[in-house]
Amino acid sequence: MLKRNLILFLASIVFSAGCFSNAAPAEVPGAKQPPNVILLFADDLGYGDLTSYGHPYNRTPNLDKLAAQGQRWTDFYVAAPVCSPSRAALLTGRLPNRTGMYGRQIAVMFPNASNGLPDSEHTLAEALQAEGYATGIVGKWHLGDAPEFYPTRHGFDYWYGIPYSNDMDWVDEPTFVELAALVAREGRQAVSQVFAKRMRKYLEPKVEYWNVPVVRSQKTVSGFKDEVVERPANQHDVTKNHTKEAVSFIQRNKNKPFFLYMPFSMPHTPLFRSAEFEGSSLGGIYGDVIEELDWSVGAISRTLRELNLAENTLLVFTSDNGPWLLMDNHGGSAGLLRNGKGTTYEGGMRVPAIFSWPGRIAPGVVSEIGSAMDIYTTSLTLAGADLPDELDGMDLSGVLLRREKSPRDGLFYYRSGELRAYRKGPFKLHLISEGAYQRPPDRVVHDKPVLNHLLHDPGERFDVAAQHPDVVKDMLKDIEAHRASFTGNESLFDRQYDHLR
Ligand code: MG
Repeated sequence: MLKRNLILFLASIVFSAGCFSNAAPAEVPGAKQPPNVILLFADDLGYGDLTSYGHPYNRTPNLDKLAAQGQRWTDFYVAAPVCSPSRAALLTGRLPNRTGMYGRQIAVMFPNASNGLPDSEHTLAEALQAEGYATGIVGKWHLGDAPEFYPTRHGFDYWYGIPYSNDMDWVDEPTFVELAALVAREGRQAVSQVFAKRMRKYLEPKVEYWNVPVVRSQKTVSGFKDEVVERPANQHDVTKNHTKEAVSFIQRNKNKPFFLYMPFSMPHTPLFRSAEFEGSSLGGIYGDVIEELDWSVGAISRTLRELNLAENTLLVFTSDNGPWLLMDNHGGSAGLLRNGKGTTYEGGMRVPAIFSWPGRIAPGVVSEIGSAMDIYTTSLTLAGADLPDELDGMDLSGVLLRREKSPRDGLFYYRSGELRAYRKGPFKLHLISEGAYQRPPDRVVHDKPVLNHLLHDPGERFDVAAQHPDVVKDMLKDIEAHRASFTGNESLFDRQYDHLR
């Protein structure tokens, strides 16, 4: 009898323990909360710059760990090969041609612009804010530098960072507007000396060469509080300061769902790193900068673990465009991909992309096609929010959580508002080719479009159009349908200086 009672007693413990372990997650405070989203966005980081993407010397253990435990994507793209349009697409889930956030003459936004991201756009921050998320941005904005276009006017509660690229706002150099006037008057040749002088400054950078401000902007009960906290920015400490700000944002918002967008200023030239990372890598100043960036990612993931937030946080790391090849060894590498920043070759638009969410993401290397615009749609889906109409982003949550096939089978490559190439499955069709700024090849409009098989030829070296006439025909039909599917908006960047005319 005693033995039977003992068995029943033990069975009841096992049974209750079983019930308890099933029931426990629902009782954990915050477990029913939608996931936090952290979006880490490097500037001009190339496809080949991380250890996990094949770099032989740059040591990126924190990113590699996230990649090994989560998903590392091989075929992930941005919507444009330069900063501003790429960032606009990331935050709106829409092609730059749809939003007007592109330029045919002026590729990105410059200081003292009269416009910026339109109010009519529904940013990821606005959409998540409406779902009760705390929203913060730490880093480079580059979607309009006038206060009415600041991130706090586009759904972010808090912003600490720089309004445009870290090489804009030169000291003792002509402004962008003055240079444009010189080119209009005397042709491109007239500015070559200015650029030669600037190149020396890029390659031996000193903080005082630039007058870039660090802005802190907050949404308050009565409106907004904007202040310049440092000018010129001490760029040596930019990654360290951004990391402190990001960690503090996470700590302040640990008890509610949050969205943290962290667009790093680095490794965009001029390159700067803190004293601790000077000479720390095998790869010179570029290697030092990458390793400090990796340290920053490590500090953020450590904070998530310490606060028990890792298992309820989707963390994404990617880059805004390919490496700036003009910058000698101060620019990164696209690895085996062709060309770099500014082009619709793979090196300009295919970027590293790492997704981490311990316990939720099905780990592995993913060779499905993904776009930065999909981060918008995926985040909203995971947050349980409704999706706006006319999105170009697609929901990747099935790939992330269950390794399903990506809903994205194709991808349109735009540069300067012009559709230049199209990918469908393994094939990429080039209508127009052109190298990065001041790099070969010269612009060619192909009478007969060039076809590459990207899986067999990721370096885009071999034209296989003659062997696959049906593929070319089918892809041209898709391009026609895409062009007919939307009218698009006029370029806003080309009009950013209309007020000075
Ligand atoms: Mg960039």
